[in-house]
Amino acid sequence: MTDFGFTINKPRVIDYDNTDKRVLKYLLAHEPSFNSCIFCGSCTATCSAGNFTDFNIRKLKIFIRRGLTEEIASEAEKCMLCGKCFLVCPRGVNNRNIILKVREALTKIESHEL
Ligand code: SF4
Ligand code: SF4
Repeated sequence: MTDFGFTINKPRVIDYDNTDKRVLKYLLAHEPSFNSCIFCGSCTATCSAGNFTDFNIRKLKIFIRRGLTEEIASEAEKCMLCGKCFLVCPRGVNNRNIILKVREALTKIESHEL
């Protein structure tokens, strides 16, 4: 093969039909306010854990929609469950309960209940 001195990037398409939706489905069933988020960023700006770590709750939500279970697990454990995000949310999204339900879903996945 001819060496042009560069390679073509791997495709970065996300196949939403074949992603792992177990956490997302569990969340929508147990904390439907997850769907009301408009990604304004107020929760991320006020987040206590985000002040001390690289935790970003909006990023966590993207991981959930993309079905990236390993990334979800490593992000979800950083939340301190202080509830400030819920207080500032203009859409009434219960982020604290979202975190609790995500952790619940991950435990169920681990024990093959989901
Ligand atoms: S404050 Fe509420 S609407 Fe805004 S990004 Fe956070 S959860 Fe979504
Ligand atoms: S409950 Fe978690 S996500 Fe919400 S502000 Fe507190 S540390 Fe951040």
